[in-house]
Amino acid sequence: MSDSDSRRAATLLHLRGAAAAKGDPLAPLLVLASMYHLPGDPAGHPQYGRADNATIEELERALGHLEDAPTVAFPSGMAAITAVLASLLRAGDRLLVPSDGYYTTRELCAWFAAHFAVEVDTRPTPTLEEGGFDGYRVVFVESPSNPGLDACDLQSIARKVNASGGLLVVDNTLMTPFGQRPLELGADVVVASDTKAPNGHSDVLLGHVATRDAELLRALRAWRKLAGSIPGPFEAWLALRGLATLEVRFARMCDSAEAIAPRLAARPEVRAVRFPGSTGDPSHALAARQQARFGFVIGLTLASAAAAERFIERCALLEPATSFGGVHSTAERRARWGDAVDPGFVRLSIGCEPTAELCAALLAALE
Ligand SMILES: *Cc1c(COP(=O)(O)O)cnc(C)c1O
Repeated sequence: MSDSDSRRAATLLHLRGAAAAKGDPLAPLLVLASMYHLPGDPAGHPQYGRADNATIEELERALGHLEDAPTVAFPSGMAAITAVLASLLRAGDRLLVPSDGYYTTRELCAWFAAHFAVEVDTRPTPTLEEGGFDGYRVVFVESPSNPGLDACDLQSIARKVNASGGLLVVDNTLMTPFGQRPLELGADVVVASDTKAPNGHSDVLLGHVATRDAELLRALRAWRKLAGSIPGPFEAWLALRGLATLEVRFARMCDSAEAIAPRLAARPEVRAVRFPGSTGDPSHALAARQQARFGFVIGLTLASAAAAERFIERCALLEPATSFGGVHSTAERRARWGDAVDPGFVRLSIGCEPTAELCAALLAALE
């Protein structure tokens, strides 16, 4: 971990204490309030739950600390992405999105095209730069992409997109701020689903947007208030608890994935492994350059859909579930949701189980 990541991880745990008054609880307060006591002039006070909540603001301070940028929280990753698109795009604008990224993002962009006359183009992540970025108001990328784990050069794309007058938005869900820092690489906006590793306990939907663009921040906050796209305070409180251990969980998960990926790749039952940490992986060189860690998601191709289902079912330390980033390892056959992947392709999300135990259980389930 870099010195600055290490410093951010350490100081995250003391943000609240540093601002506390004598006698304040050290743990975050769960403020459940739609109304506030407001006699007389309400200016300068919390006014209504759609705009003001101390627990959500505390979560935004914690996320903003990790992102090193002002951050706005939303009730899900998709709500965060919707807020960015709604804040940046006007009818007639052009938007570029990956053809191999998160499926729901593509569906949302198709909705913007059909309902709001936004022109949407798609390109595969590995060749995203081909064709240039002239005329695009927004370029939206995921690196590594979910679920294929292909990469694109964020620094080079940011430079080119900005030079042609557009903005680069990076979905950093797979990496978290401990795995990759797109704003440092030149991106204008980071979006992420905190439903995944940041909360990490598979019990909350939440998302955020981080940006240093003051005008966009104003638009995001206005959108949130107008659209009512505000997280629940209890979810924010749970996510604060989850965030406190993100650094240790993420380190364990990434360490385990690095140990496990080559063991899986060496097995005759496995046709292919995608993991940016493996030296032969098409994403390796870029990932090594622009990521701090290689992540905890492994793409595994087995002989058939049946072999993939059997592997997931047999492994005692694997939960069959969609989504990723939880404390427990999970897996799913992505083709069942219509992703354009091999029927035997399994997305494996490495959890916090002790590495040797997990590795042994995964190898045993392949037999
Ligand atoms: C899960 C996910 C989202 C959507 O987040 P939700 O919290 O489920 O709305 C967006 N992008 C990526 C890459 C994701 O994995």
